[in-house]
Amino acid sequence: MIREPAGRDWRTFALCADVDPEIFYPVDVRADAPAVQRAKRICTSCPVQTSCLLDVMAGEDPARRWGVIGATTPDERHALFLAQRPAVVRSGAVAA
Ligand code: SF4
Repeated sequence: MIREPAGRDWRTFALCADVDPEIFYPVDVRADAPAVQRAKRICTSCPVQTSCLLDVMAGEDPARRWGVIGATTPDERHALFLAQRPAVVRSGAVAA
């Protein structure tokens, strides 16, 4: 469950709301790219990073991952997505 500070939507407290959105959508999205590191520095200072990451993981279309969100790159979110899938899905087993 995502807790909303003081009963308000967590987005109210997002640090990215006050900076150029382009910072979070660099062309080079490798984890060690300077532009990604810049975006991640903002995210790691953000008071709603956990809520942000939980929200994107719950609703992001795996085929359309882009940008730095919740201090993660698309590849990092893909890895999180795979790690949180039940083992039975990863093995390819089908329930009867
Ligand atoms: S963690 Fe990053 S992307 Fe998420 S709300 Fe905060 S600044 Fe924005």
